[in-house]
Formats: sequence, structure tokens, C-alpha cells
Amino acid sequence: MWFFNSPEIVFGEESLSYLEQLTGKRACLVTDPHLVQLGYAAHVQQRLEAAGFAVACFDQVESDPSTETALAGAAMMREFAPDWIVALGGGSVLDAAKAMWILYERPDMTPEAINPIEKMGLRRKARLAAIPTTSGTGSEATWAVVLTNTAERRKMGLGNREALPDLAILDPSLVMKLPPRQTADTGLDALTHAVEGFTSQWHNDFTDGLCLKAAQLVFQYLPRAYSEGSDAEARQRMQNAAAIAGLGFGNSMAALAHGLGHALGGVFHVPHGRAVGLALPYTIEYCAQGEAGSTRYGELARFLDLPHASEEEAAAALAAAVRHLERQVDQPLTLQACGILQADLEREMSLLIENAGNDTQTVTSTRIPEGDEMRGLFEAMYAGHW
Ligand SMILES: [Zn+2]
Repeated sequence: MWFFNSPEIVFGEESLSYLEQLTGKRACLVTDPHLVQLGYAAHVQQRLEAAGFAVACFDQVESDPSTETALAGAAMMREFAPDWIVALGGGSVLDAAKAMWILYERPDMTPEAINPIEKMGLRRKARLAAIPTTSGTGSEATWAVVLTNTAERRKMGLGNREALPDLAILDPSLVMKLPPRQTADTGLDALTHAVEGFTSQWHNDFTDGLCLKAAQLVFQYLPRAYSEGSDAEARQRMQNAAAIAGLGFGNSMAALAHGLGHALGGVFHVPHGRAVGLALPYTIEYCAQGEAGSTRYGELARFLDLPHASEEEAAAALAAAVRHLERQVDQPLTLQACGILQADLEREMSLLIENAGNDTQTVTSTRIPEGDEMRGLFEAMYAGHW
């Protein structure tokens, strides 16, 4: 038994005006200080007030949000008693808002206890609207929640199917000013979701088409959105790609590049999209060396028009295409180019190996590193070759 879940998705110009059609009394806006400064938070607040809501704002979500932030937001919600939670921001804000929502509805729970198995009974108190201001994480279209355990320097992949937003609003005006570096980082996250959603062990007929389309959109539009931020078409198509990839991997699973990327993010604070995008071509090469017939790079390469005569060639062509895209948007291709020192990598290696091995995304890879293989992956990512 398996499921396909999607929020209601409103997309295209003027999508934000849909907020005025929401019904309810009290809305809690969850965002970060930067979006307050840009005036985006005030803009959303005005729309909600125009719809008759009393609005309270939690604007202190940090990047890689901690369990403490989730608890602080939930405490504020218990006080204010919102019937809508409106999350405005990148993946960090959207994930934090989902965790706050769960803890608001379930004060008996701790953040670490959020799990995909238990019935949560959400929506007795509130519903969730997600408004992304980056194009990549797809968090607006998934039930995944990534929180950081700050003391243990570990990212925790949590989540529950009920934590899928009720509504996702993709208004291109909110991503037009996204700086080039963040455009590239988050865009590569979307590509990694698309490729891993298509190739993970849990891929299925409902998600395959979404993943293929999202991958194609990223290859086509990310270089444009990166080099010319005011290119409205490229911005909108990247925004769509991110949500479509979110629906894809959110209803199948990500894989090894996310396991490695979460470990790197927790220990070295490499931004999520940069970390998983860097890991992606190495994991493609690694998985292609696994059991014959277990990968589907040929199908993906065919859809992306990458010439190949075998599954191995398809994997090589796909890894090369990812690296070419990364060069086009000036992304680091190695951990060394991320500014990580070899001595630091060695010192942290056992924690990286342990965290990547225990990550919830690693288990759905078509090839799971054994013995020294995880170390080999980190070393290859550091040096840029196997
Ligand atoms: Zn991701």
C-alpha cells in the first residue's frame, strides 16, 4: 500500500492574492528576519488582514532550524491559537513551520518523536499554507521536516504524511530577487530531488513523470535564472520545477546524495542544495557500479536527450551533465572547492560516515555503502575523483 499526496497548488502571477480568499480568524505567519526586512512578510500580513485575520508573526527562523526554534514557535501558537499557519520563506522556514504546527496540535510530542508511522490527528486546530521564497527545496509540496539537533551537529529527517501543507502558493514575484548563489544552490536541490525521486528504490508510476519533467526544467532554466535574475520566465519555470520535484520525491523518496548532503550540512554547514548537488554526480557513478539492472539512468538520460548506448554510459552522461550545469552556475564540484580543509574532513570523518549511514534517505538508494565505501565517497567528493 502506498499513497500520493499533494497540496492545493496556486501558481503564476498574482497568486498571493489567493490569500484573501482564505477563511478563518487567526493566522500565525512564520518567517525569517531577512524576509521581514525585504517587506515580504508585511505584504503577506496585509493580505491576511484584508481577509479578516488577526495576525501574529514568528519571524525568528534561522537557516537549518533547530528543535529549539520549533518548540518556541509551537509555544507561541498555543498562546495565540491560530486556525491558519502561513509559512513564508525557504525550506528552513517551511520545515520549521511544519514542526511547529505538529507540536502545536500535539503538545505531548517532542520534535525528535515526529515520525511517519503514528497517526498525528493534525488539523483539529489549524491548517498550513506554504509560500516558498526560494526555488528548490520543494518543501511546500512535501511532508518532510528536516530539523537540526544543534548539540549533536546532526540533521534529522523527520516528517509525517499529515504534515503536508494544505495549500502551496507559488508567486513568482517572491523569487525575482533571489541572489545568484542561492538561486544556484536551491536549483540544484530541485535537480537532486528529481533525479533521486526517479532513481530511488521507492520510485513509482505516479512520481516518475513529475521527476522527469522537473529535471528537464532545471537543466533548461537554471542557467538563465542564475545569470539573469530578472528573467521572469526562467524564475517562474524554476519555481514550478521545485514544487514538481517536491511532489515527485515527496511521494517516492530521495536517496544517497541526500544522506551525504545532510551529513555535510550538519557538520560543516554546507548549504543544503550545494551539498546534495555536489554529491549527486558521485552517487550516480557509485550506484552505477552496483548490481546490474538496479538503476534507471538510461530512462532518465533518454528523456534528457543525453546520448548513451548502455546503462553505464547513461550514468556517465548524466553525471557529466550535472557537473556541466554546476559549472554553468559556478558551483563547487568538490568539498575542497567548498572551502573544507583536508585535516577537518579527516577529523570529522567518523561522524560524517555515521550520520550519512543513519540518514533516512540513504536506505532508499539502489546501492547502500558498506564497509569503507562511505569513506571512499567522502574522499572522492573531496578530491574530485575516485
Ligand atoms: Zn533536498
